[in-house]
Amino acid sequence: MIAWGWDVKAANSIISSYGTTVFEVMSRLAIEHESINLGQGFPDEDGPADVRQVAADALMSGPNQYPPMMGVPELRQAVAAHASRHYGFSVDWQSEVMVGSGATEVLTDCMMGLIEPGDEVVVIEPLYDCYMPIIRRAGAVVKRIRVTPPDWALPRAELEAAFSDKTKLILLNNPQNPAAKMFSDDELAFIAQLVQRHDAYAICDEVYEHIVFDGRRHTPLITLPGMRERCVKIGSAGKTFSLTGWKVGYATAAPELLAPIAKAHQFVTFTTPPNLQNAVAFGLAKDDAYFSGLGAGMQAKRDRFAAGLARIGFGVIDCQGTYFITADIAPLGFDGDDTAFCRHITIKRA
Ligand code: PMP
Repeated sequence: MIAWGWDVKAANSIISSYGTTVFEVMSRLAIEHESINLGQGFPDEDGPADVRQVAADALMSGPNQYPPMMGVPELRQAVAAHASRHYGFSVDWQSEVMVGSGATEVLTDCMMGLIEPGDEVVVIEPLYDCYMPIIRRAGAVVKRIRVTPPDWALPRAELEAAFSDKTKLILLNNPQNPAAKMFSDDELAFIAQLVQRHDAYAICDEVYEHIVFDGRRHTPLITLPGMRERCVKIGSAGKTFSLTGWKVGYATAAPELLAPIAKAHQFVTFTTPPNLQNAVAFGLAKDDAYFSGLGAGMQAKRDRFAAGLARIGFGVIDCQGTYFITADIAPLGFDGDDTAFCRHITIKRA
């Protein structure tokens, strides 16, 4: 490249084939045009003051040195207690819990730690944008199926066909970004049965486990019969405490499954800021009212937003959980595709 004065060697072709993430692009555009940013999933308000206070105090009192690689004991104990309290399954905090710098890092650790080149990984579209690059970069072949609006029902025959004797794992996001779908008990049982039949694993991205609406309750796949040894359950403090900038995630899995994931983690970030870990441990021990209040508060916002979108002519689709709403732009008669529409409403002043 002339500007550098020497030839730049080719970068990794998989990662280079992706542009800048749409979240960064749209957030930047919204800042530039002083528009309301509806593109990226994060709350308007920061999470609980007491959780933030614990983080602030721990930052000042220290220590601020490398914490244990698997996470501070307080947080690993809190993640184990959370599993037993909310879902009734017992977890050994010492051998079955790992803390990472956000669910994204934990997902990356899973792919780096478990995938052998040529393995197949099943995913369900539409999906969170980091899935494809990290799976492909880890050397796997991606097998995609798709759920479609308005009901987002699992296409069972297609899912069955996507599994093969090369399937290493399915990466399941439930509740699902961006479809705002919660998989039904029947669908989860169907997935569990396929995972077992193909002797595969399930990496369960459950970061929205507490952002669920209309009286629904989240069911982790790991709690289904035969799945305790096959699932990695992933949570995120960013979502559970409305502190998305913190990037504190946690994985729960059987010791044999967690061990290779932890090996990847030790080479990726190794640790996560200790004060944030202590604050998240404090947060996970909050009373039930906090967890139900998180869902109820988001549900009220969903209702207000959905009603507003419907009023101005969007076709709004049922939203069962997560930060996302799917809205059909067809009734608005815009001349252009969805990306052009999003750019248009971000840039153009009323
Ligand atoms: N998984 C899903 C489905 C998400 O939507 C997000 C955030 N948008 C993440 C993982 C990332 O979580 P974290 O910030 O803890 O890395």
